[in-house]
Amino acid sequence: MTSQETMNGKVALVTGGSRGIGAATALRLAREGADVAVTYVNGKEAAEDVVRGVEALGRRGLALRADSADPVESGSVADRVVAEFGRLDVLVNNAGVGVLGPLESLSLEDVDRVLDVNVRGVFLASRSAAPHLGDGGRIVTIGSCMTQRVPGPGGTLYAMSKSALTGLTKALARELGARGITANIVHPGPVDTDMNPADGPYAPDQSAMTAVGRFGAAEEVASMVAYLASGEAAYVTGAEFSVDGGHAA
Ligand code: NDP
Repeated sequence: MTSQETMNGKVALVTGGSRGIGAATALRLAREGADVAVTYVNGKEAAEDVVRGVEALGRRGLALRADSADPVESGSVADRVVAEFGRLDVLVNNAGVGVLGPLESLSLEDVDRVLDVNVRGVFLASRSAAPHLGDGGRIVTIGSCMTQRVPGPGGTLYAMSKSALTGLTKALARELGARGITANIVHPGPVDTDMNPADGPYAPDQSAMTAVGRFGAAEEVASMVAYLASGEAAYVTGAEFSVDGGHAA
């Protein structure tokens, strides 16, 4: 078996897969052999581009409009994938929003929005996926380097939301381990995406906070996700992985 065939016959769902880290992950999992569904909210065209990329790799692709902030949509997202593809093997909880700013500037609406997408949506998508996952099932959640080290002011809400996912991941590992299902969390450092462009006003400071002195590429996070989603990672669960250029070092 070549590395290209490690996920043959598997089905993966990547939330927020229309752009950035999610899109890179969807394409990487397809390259590993998986059929891949992606969710989006506004980026229909972009999601359809990712599906075309998945199909160009010889796999089935599916773009689903599913807002992680909506409890009905995030709570049924896995069912929709199974209805189309007949199974689900891998859930990548990637969709997330970043609202940064001084404590006093963050409104109740900001708090609700960030927790709805970054925390409740992840919980509900995981709960939606769990009954469908069999032996070898995988849940990989995208956290943040801000759970390891908050390098300056403005990160209260975002760091709080992402830190909740570490507890969820460890608890999922305990709950699902006996069924041969793993749950892990990946903490990216600054990664060049629409959310955090490498030419943005705060980019030089962020680069300086890493050990390697640069932004990461979405593909560098995707390769860690692909490993954790693979059969090779069967004995890896409840664990945190930094892909952050040494931001936490
Ligand atoms: P982007 O903003 O570039 O892309 C976000 C993706 O998530 C898009 O596909 C977007 O879809 C989708 N999305 C946003 N809100 C929702 C929602 N409510 N429901 C469903 N999908 C949604 O983000 P990144 O690729 O940079 O980030 C991906 C993950 O990585 C996030 O969880 C983020 O917090 C985390 N992260 C990113 C870092 C970085 O430096 N980039 C660093 C650390 C963590 P649409 O196109 O429809 O808007």
